[in-house]
Amino acid sequence: MSCDTALPGAGGLWVLAEHDQGRILPVAFELLGRARQLADRMICPVAAILPGTVDQAGVSALIAAGADEVLTCADPALDNLPEDPCTDLLSHLVRQYEPAVFLIGATHWGRTVAPRVAARVHTGLTADCTMLDIDPKTGLLLQTRPAFGGNLLATIVTERHRPQMATVRPGVLPEPVRDTSRRGRLLPVEPPPLTNRLAELSRLVLPPEQGIAAARVIVSAGRGIMSQKNLALVRSLADLLGGQMGVSRPLVDMGWAPVGCQIGQTGQSVAPDLLIACGISGAIQHIAGLGQARMLVAINTDPEAPIFQFADVQVVADCVPLLRQLVRDLSARRKDGGLGSEAAAP
Ligand SMILES: Cc1cc2nc3c(=O)[nH]c(=O)nc-3n(C[C@H](O)[C@H](O)[C@H](O)COP(=O)(O)OP(=O)(O)OC[C@H]3O[C@@H](n4cnc5c(N)ncnc54)[C@H](O)[C@@H]3O)c2cc1C
Repeated sequence: MSCDTALPGAGGLWVLAEHDQGRILPVAFELLGRARQLADRMICPVAAILPGTVDQAGVSALIAAGADEVLTCADPALDNLPEDPCTDLLSHLVRQYEPAVFLIGATHWGRTVAPRVAARVHTGLTADCTMLDIDPKTGLLLQTRPAFGGNLLATIVTERHRPQMATVRPGVLPEPVRDTSRRGRLLPVEPPPLTNRLAELSRLVLPPEQGIAAARVIVSAGRGIMSQKNLALVRSLADLLGGQMGVSRPLVDMGWAPVGCQIGQTGQSVAPDLLIACGISGAIQHIAGLGQARMLVAINTDPEAPIFQFADVQVVADCVPLLRQLVRDLSARRKDGGLGSEAAAP
């Protein structure tokens, strides 16, 4: 990997700072944290690429999380991150500044834009990486992701094309500790002519389940929940704990829960402080989404269930009466004022 610091971000590691109307998404900070660690080993700059308008606090947060440079293109036409114009801008910047690595969050938006940019600049893209490293001998980015239904971890390198592009799901990497004493450069860049074949007519605000990637508490259910009706218990416990409901894939396939609730390889990656898994066996494709859960409590009738290998607390029990009891007890405590207001907030 070569670094030409005369050009902004040249030869360095780029991270796309995706935002939601100016609020930078946690995945951008997670990627910056990892990029910073890799760049320190390679002695390369880290640049955050910021299309659209974000306030000074957002820019400072990117620098505190590890960016040396923030390339901004504060064109109001980019504020809602429209896909066509953002593809134009990002492809243009890649051609102009030639970064060695370009990391993008595997959000719905990132999954749409990253392959378009990769195709435009004729490079490879490794989607949904779970690990990123640098080969100390070659300086190449080692992009590791599950393959063959999660039974294998494949490490992919982009030897001949640049940049080496990868997407990483939200919640897979830890957020870095922010260092507010860090200093960085803000570099406004000019957009190329932007094209847009789509007109945004309205915005649909998705239900809260769509946000399980950022939830601090998750109560999740698998086939062991037995019926769709029993999911009300899961949702109630999640509400009482100030968390959200997650599910395994069969429940989505059966139409019991929206796809945004699905945890796993083909669903969301989650990183809660507490996850209570009810009637989930622990298939590898499900576990692939649980990488960063701090405390995993598993409830299963089968003492040999694979999920127990990953659980901090193993409860061999029928989850349905247990959930009913927990909801009853916590509701009673809430009525008595015994459940802290923060935990009790739905
Ligand atoms: C390419 C591919 C991608 C996939 N992606 C995903 C994914 O993203 N997410 C995902 O979840 N799956 C995914 N799967 C499916 C995955 O392989 C499993 O089939 C699925 O995770 C199993 O879901 P489950 O644990 O709910 O059901 P099961 O495996 O049927 O497990 C049910 C568990 O409930 C327990 N149980 C039964 N009754 C009770 C009770 N009353 N109380 C407590 N416990 C009880 C049982 O002992 C059992 O352990 C994928 C599969 C493939 C091939």
